Amino acid sequence: MREYLIAGNWKMNLGRTESVYLARELADKIPANDAVETVLIPTFVHLDAVHQAIASSALKLGAQDVYYEKKGAFTGEISPAMLKEVGVQFVLVGHSERRHILGETDALLNQKTRAAIAEGLSVVLCVGETLPERQSHQTNEVVARQLAGGLAKVDSDMVQLRRLVIAYEPVWAIGTGLTATPQQAQAVHSFIRQRLTDLYGTSLARTIRIQYGGSVRKANAADLLAEADIDGLLVGGASLAADEFADIVRAAEQVKGKK
Ligand code: PEP
Repeated sequence: MREYLIAGNWKMNLGRTESVYLARELADKIPANDAVETVLIPTFVHLDAVHQAIASSALKLGAQDVYYEKKGAFTGEISPAMLKEVGVQFVLVGHSERRHILGETDALLNQKTRAAIAEGLSVVLCVGETLPERQSHQTNEVVARQLAGGLAKVDSDMVQLRRLVIAYEPVWAIGTGLTATPQQAQAVHSFIRQRLTDLYGTSLARTIRIQYGGSVRKANAADLLAEADIDGLLVGGASLAADEFADIVRAAEQVKGKK
């Protein structure tokens, strides 16, 4: 059984006071449960403060990015070990905003993925097609390329212990209010599961969680999660409102109870 993973990516949206306030509200509203793991992903400079705010709760901490070197002359970058020091357990790698705005390549994302896993962090590797790619029926090809590139030399041992999560985030659905239908999402998730099976074998591939992301709200969360290969949600905008995000986690608990 794959425990759901619900993650809130706050991007570059909240100041320090707002981040701590939201973290405290969520710590109160989201009790521990066995069916859902919940992760908050604030900006780097607020990781420490948010870590303290959620210290005695069931919530976990994630970072929006990571660098692959351990230390040295890499101005502006942050190593996996530095993230661990402030309580980070998960890192996003290859969010579409980093691929498309910052120009990150599959080769770079592969280095980040391997370095973060080697340090004991769980990596959420984000993949997804743009609208023109979907319209020209290239979705599977794009996702396969991103998976192959991002997971090169990531072997079965590295994937154990739930160190790898894939997030399918169609770029056309991120922050646009357009959501993939549950059937569209499931079709890509099933394709991803097949690629993971090719890479790691059936039993290991079955343990890897595949999140969906792209304009998730409490209104569509349950329908998405009801699909067989959707194992969680990566939530942007809706994770900035405590009630909405807590309701998404609650919806996940309820779906898990029925699945
Ligand atoms: C995201 O940032 O990963 C995301 C899916 O954003 P939103 O939920 O706002 O579409």
